[in-house]
Amino acid sequence: MNSSTAFCPHCKKDTLFTRTARDKTCSVCGYRFQLEDLPPSVPWVRRNLGWLLFWAFLAAPATLAFLSIAGGAEDTAGMVTFYGSGVSAFYCAIWCAGRTSTNAAARILLGFALFAVFYCVSFGLCFAGCAAAGDARNLFR
Ligand SMILES: [Zn+2]
Repeated sequence: MNSSTAFCPHCKKDTLFTRTARDKTCSVCGYRFQLEDLPPSVPWVRRNLGWLLFWAFLAAPATLAFLSIAGGAEDTAGMVTFYGSGVSAFYCAIWCAGRTSTNAAARILLGFALFAVFYCVSFGLCFAGCAAAGDARNLFR
């Protein structure tokens, strides 16, 4: 334990703070700072990893479908559109539902609704990707 003088936001005076490993206590009013409450500096990628994964999952089936068509593998493109969209929508729905609600029943309902929405979105993106790839191939014919 050691002491230091600092401005106390509670009694608004320069007071002597008693400092321990976990907190600082004002010797006048007893106001206590939790040292752990200080915002940790987390790199941008770590802080936004959830969003990065969300977009990566949402864009992955369309990207794969595009590459499949461009590479002449129509069967693969179809599989990716149907199954890939399912996996993508499943991940995105669970992730979003988990962020928006803490109630288990609400999460499940929201998860189903979001799954339908994201499946349609991913399916649409796959079709757009396939169409784009088809056009791109025709250009080089
Ligand atoms: Zn104080």
